[in-house]
Amino acid sequence: MKDSILFSGDSYTWGEGLQLYIENDFWISQRNENNEWGNLQKKLTPESEKFREENRFAGIVSNHFKCKSIIRDKNGGQFEYPIDFVESILETNQVNNIKFLIFQLTGLERVNLHLMTGCNCDFCVNSDSDKPHFFLIKLLHKKLENKSFTNKDEIAIKYLKNNYDIDFYKLLDLKEDIFTSDLYTEFYSKYFYENVERFIKEYVNKWKTYFPVYFIDSWSPTSSKVLLSYPEIYNNTIPLLGDDGEYYKEWDSFMNTFEHRMIKDEFEATKNSHPTFTQHKNIAKSIITYVENNYIESKEKII
Ligand SMILES: [Zn+2]
Repeated sequence: MKDSILFSGDSYTWGEGLQLYIENDFWISQRNENNEWGNLQKKLTPESEKFREENRFAGIVSNHFKCKSIIRDKNGGQFEYPIDFVESILETNQVNNIKFLIFQLTGLERVNLHLMTGCNCDFCVNSDSDKPHFFLIKLLHKKLENKSFTNKDEIAIKYLKNNYDIDFYKLLDLKEDIFTSDLYTEFYSKYFYENVERFIKEYVNKWKTYFPVYFIDSWSPTSSKVLLSYPEIYNNTIPLLGDDGEYYKEWDSFMNTFEHRMIKDEFEATKNSHPTFTQHKNIAKSIITYVENNYIESKEKII
């Protein structure tokens, strides 16, 4: 009998900010302080972490199914981290005990140009392993501060031009809002889609030979649009129960049904932009409902 559920994702899966819902004097007072990660991190205690682990959606779901959660113990991360985590579990004996995987998609803004660690191409090496999205932001800052680009910057820009036909200089020179421009859409389209295809082909399809794979949509609207355009992802994305009693696959549509869209809308001073306690409970309910309606325990695993 399989007795574990594998969860993989970023700070949303980890449960950042749930500590602020602990009903004791200290945490109630913290609702009036800045508790973005840098500050929150210093205040964690074994008690606060027990509360977070029990009350995040993974904790609620595992408790419901009387299963163990297998979940990364570090907060946050780039697009590759949740993938690496699942890969690392495949190499352990735990893999035989997994009922299903809940994979919470993070933002593609956090993906490498080439979905893998340790790529040796001119971009991945010379951008100091920056994601192209963050490389763009870094160069924007340099431009605004009138700092010149380094030789390595120039090599990375040239690589993008030669291999992806991305004209960074043109992008940096835009007078309009870069991130809503057509040129920016063209820029991310060139590598977001390529990476999602690799994610499906090289990872998701393999994982499905081990256990059912279910997704939770990305909180990044741009990434959501790209990721959900693939039937392999869309058809296995869990519809999330909104505050209006309706179900939504798109994260933004789900989030917008709540009076408090994020923790910072409920406790403004915290500035913490993670899901609220109510949202974690609703996500858990959504997973339980979906799995109970869709899950068929696979027969003997054949490797
Ligand atoms: Zn590369």
